[in-house]
Amino acid sequence: MRILISGASVAGPALAYWLNRYGFAVTVVERAPALRKTGGHAVDLFRPAMDIVEQMGALDRVLAEKTGVEHLTMYREGHDKPIELELRRVLTAVSDRHVEIMRDDLSEIFHDATCDDVEYVFGDSIASISDDGEVTFDSGREDRFDLVIGADGLHSNVRRLIFGPESEFSTWIGAYLAVVSVPDHLGLDGRMEGIAGVGRMAAMVAPHMDDARAVFLFRTPEQLDYHYRDVARQKELLRERFEGVGWEVPRLLAELDRTPAFYFDSITQLRLDNWSRGRVTLVGDAGHCPGPAVGGSTSLAVVGAYILAGELAAYGGDHTRAYPAYEAEIGDYVRRSRTFAINAARRIVPGTPFELRALAGMVWLIDHLPAGLTRAAAKISSRGMRLHDSIVLKDYSTHAVARAR
Ligand SMILES: Cc1cc2nc3c(=O)[nH]c(=O)nc-3n(C[C@H](O)[C@H](O)[C@H](O)COP(=O)(O)OP(=O)(O)OC[C@H]3O[C@@H](n4cnc5c(N)ncnc54)[C@H](O)[C@@H]3O)c2cc1C
Repeated sequence: MRILISGASVAGPALAYWLNRYGFAVTVVERAPALRKTGGHAVDLFRPAMDIVEQMGALDRVLAEKTGVEHLTMYREGHDKPIELELRRVLTAVSDRHVEIMRDDLSEIFHDATCDDVEYVFGDSIASISDDGEVTFDSGREDRFDLVIGADGLHSNVRRLIFGPESEFSTWIGAYLAVVSVPDHLGLDGRMEGIAGVGRMAAMVAPHMDDARAVFLFRTPEQLDYHYRDVARQKELLRERFEGVGWEVPRLLAELDRTPAFYFDSITQLRLDNWSRGRVTLVGDAGHCPGPAVGGSTSLAVVGAYILAGELAAYGGDHTRAYPAYEAEIGDYVRRSRTFAINAARRIVPGTPFELRALAGMVWLIDHLPAGLTRAAAKISSRGMRLHDSIVLKDYSTHAVARAR
């Protein structure tokens, strides 16, 4: 049985790994000419994703590549004295098992775990998918697959081809995110430093790479007017929004004209509640994205891939039964991640002076409470801080022999 996956970042190779392990023949098509090696941004693997990584035999490499960013120094606009925080204390409150890793490192690890058994086609993209599995590619190639799975990110091509335009499913959750590659002039070496104000937050982090990342998050009452390809306008919006902010912000903004890598996007959330049509389904950000940088979507991508492959194996490749089972199994995690992301976006970028004071107070508390107490407080938090750790993974290992070629 032949399965085509679109996208070779996190969800795609993770899904390829499990499908191959269950005996399916897998092809992955990736639009980029090669595996991305620029680092990208840091992503989070929480307990269930870490457990899956361990089952994939990739734990040692993931641990070896972790960013190791463990300390945060956060200034507040209008205050001289920064708040210091051991990030480990926050993260252990959220999850018992967490690793932060650069997205491209994770992608490479998953790719390396699959490339001997899975066919990877770089520099191509799906142009059409017919109801009976006939697929044409931008390159002009044609092929037939039993199933097609979109793992091609928030702006998924497969989703657009099968479900329609993105605007029908995505909702802006009030915030914007920019990431800029900058020289590490602060010598951060595994530390994060930043400044928070009402409606805006800027930080710089150097996760053991040649350069550092400046991250800007801000909120606006209305959606901004710009074209997604108009980088000059996006930089202008960023400069306007962070005008007058102290700390290192003027220097970071000055880097905007020199930076080799600039990312700017609204934080949007996908609101799809069915992810499958006929032979096609979606996994990772393509189907589930609760919002980049605020919803733990990388863990969701890894867990989604594990469940989808597991259900396909359990039903011997019968997608008419496996897809509904996959949707039933992942649905609650997706919906809870959306709520988590909306709350996180509000908390990380406080909208009022009161919320800013509350954030500072919370950070102070986390740093001063004994770790056990912080974890206990997180466990009883009604806002589901321990969302990821509450996910119980089904064991699909008995289906490993359900070869469906
Ligand atoms: C700035 C930023 C910061 C983030 N911070 C965090 C964080 O702190 N923690 C966290 O957990 N997550 C974070 N995320 C989200 C995280 O990166 C994603 O959840 C994760 O990468 C999802 O993996 P994915 O494989 O589903 O999609 P992606 O990583 O988006 O990969 C999609 C892949 O599909 C490919 N593709 C696109 N179009 C096509 C096409 N037409 N044909 C073939 N291939 C195609 C792309 O090239 C890419 O390789 C952040 C995201 C962004 C943008």
